[in-house]
Amino acid sequence: MIEIRDIDKWYGTTQVLRACSTSVAKGEVVVVCGPSGSGKSTLIKCVNGLEPFQNGEITVDGVPVGDRGTNLSKLRARIGMVFQNFELYPHMTVTANICLAQEKVLGRSKAEAEAKAAGLLARVGLSEHARKHPGQLSGGQQQRVAIARALAMDPIAMLFDEPTSALDPEMINEVLEVMVELAQEGMTMMVVTHEMGFARKVADRVVFMDKGEIVEDAEKDAFFGTPRSDRAQQFLSKIL
Ligand code: ADP
Ligand code: MG
Repeated sequence: MIEIRDIDKWYGTTQVLRACSTSVAKGEVVVVCGPSGSGKSTLIKCVNGLEPFQNGEITVDGVPVGDRGTNLSKLRARIGMVFQNFELYPHMTVTANICLAQEKVLGRSKAEAEAKAAGLLARVGLSEHARKHPGQLSGGQQQRVAIARALAMDPIAMLFDEPTSALDPEMINEVLEVMVELAQEGMTMMVVTHEMGFARKVADRVVFMDKGEIVEDAEKDAFFGTPRSDRAQQFLSKIL
């Protein structure tokens, strides 16, 4: 579903991605981890065309992301993205947040969009909050709304960039539980996270990045089980 081949990316004169290659098959869950500044967010942003890259090729469902001819807004509408800081529209209700792109981008009727929103809010356990504004919800609840909003677009894949790292510890699990369910239902997922419990539970593969490079790309059991690169070992010893 996602093919990343030999990506180089510079910000100005600083190279932040070096020959990065990996892939996410349909229904696969790939966890991306690594130190701060290693290029995880940049890589995931390249996948849905939020950041351009200079060399290499990324395809999503066969569509080349870096090609000038590719309609990026159309592609992005099919890829769900969940950020660290939720990025909900603060002046809109929870339901309106989930309906906006359904109506504007997919052309669904208000009734259709609201029915979809109601179903997804039930699924993430937030039905009673449908008419509230994001500011009236906890961080964990807001992040579950953000996930529901992404799912409302019937995405072919979901990208997560440290979805729990801005949350108070007691709220992390309620978000991870939703993500675990999604993974178990067969969603194609690329997840930047340091939650190794999540990785152990549902990841198929773990990618470890350092200084713009993919240093490890291994089946989960191999990643956690066998000796690995010094850099990955050092990193894991600090977070586990
Ligand atoms: P991570 O998500 O692993 O913490 P990032 O992808 O955010 O890493 O950053 C990788 C590198 O690119 C870092 O050195 C960071 O300072 C740099 N960087 C990130 N965004 C920008 C930007 N918009 N302009 C210039 N440099 C950036
Ligand atoms: Mg990041």
